[in-house]
Amino acid sequence: MIFSTRVIVIAGVAGAILLGIGMTFDATALFILGLIVVFGGLGVGAAEKMRKHSVAPGSCPACGGLVSPHAPYCKHCGERLVPAGR
Ligand SMILES: [Zn+2]
Repeated sequence: MIFSTRVIVIAGVAGAILLGIGMTFDATALFILGLIVVFGGLGVGAAEKMRKHSVAPGSCPACGGLVSPHAPYCKHCGERLVPAGR
């Protein structure tokens, strides 16, 4: 989802620049461009921070597919991932 966030930011900046050209870069266009860059940067930074804090994905012992470390079952093959020994 990081990629899509960046695409949105880049598209927003490009759109603001085009808007600025259309409006001959008056103060409002520059203000909007600045807002998009600042909030876009914050959004990308937050997304990357979340990704760093997320736990590394585990792999299913039965099929080897990537699964969430907290998932009770493998989403690929349905293998039970939490040890049944209670
Ligand atoms: Zn599996």
